[in-house]
Amino acid sequence: MENCLFCKIAKGEIPSQKVYEDDAVLAFRDISPAAPEHVLIIPKKHYDNILQLDDNALLGHMFEVARQVAQTLGIDKTGFRIVINTGKDGGQTVEHLHLHLLGARELGWPPG
Ligand code: 5GP
Ligand code: ZN
Repeated sequence: MENCLFCKIAKGEIPSQKVYEDDAVLAFRDISPAAPEHVLIIPKKHYDNILQLDDNALLGHMFEVARQVAQTLGIDKTGFRIVINTGKDGGQTVEHLHLHLLGARELGWPPG
């Protein structure tokens, strides 16, 4: 999608610190990390948000990638959080579906 930040990152038009990539999915470090390890996992195909996603196999694959990246980073041992912010109240700021993988510190609950 034109003028979408994460589409541009997916195409390599904007640089990112990649931690995993395949044909369907890209994982890269968040530019403003909310935890010592903070990775974003995106589908290369544009979906505004989780409501628009019509491909459960892709969703499953994104979670599999998140699990794999957690192992690569070593946070599978200490624990981590997977988050999908959606819409205004969900705090979504980039309208291209993404999954946050956060870890390497104790995370507070409930969210603020
Ligand atoms: P949201 O608030 O939509 O759930 O998450 C968007 C995330 O994208 C934020 O955590 C923000 O720091 C991150 N972000 C915004 N712009 C960029 C960028 O240009 N590069 C990277 N790597 N992350 C970004
Ligand atoms: Zn996009």
